[in-house]
Amino acid sequence: MRALVIDDSRAMRTILTRTMENLGFEVEAVVDGQQAVEAVQRGPLPDVCLIDWNMPVMNGLEFIVEVRKNREWRDITLMMVTTEAEQANIVRALAAGAHEYVIKPFTPEVIEDKLAMLGLL
Ligand SMILES: [Mg+2]
Repeated sequence: MRALVIDDSRAMRTILTRTMENLGFEVEAVVDGQQAVEAVQRGPLPDVCLIDWNMPVMNGLEFIVEVRKNREWRDITLMMVTTEAEQANIVRALAAGAHEYVIKPFTPEVIEDKLAMLGLL
């Protein structure tokens, strides 16, 4: 399984990369939504994306909208991982096509549980 970690915080990229590697994923990490779109276009396709909301250039919500425009990318699982805890924003992300929503700070067990529920473990 392949994971794409998308976060402008280097510390968060490190934490998420380690978490996913410990769960057996091959991980690529990028710093914004634009780089993430490029990574998906370049392939191989990730099975799951872990997506920060607030990033420069292209934010996480914009990235989700981009991914959902392309039918060839419909099997990619999209998991928002963000400090945006407002109910309205959670609803917006899910409406745009996110499958899951994790609020920072999180424990690796939360990520593991969500991935298991999504059938990715
Ligand atoms: Mg951020």
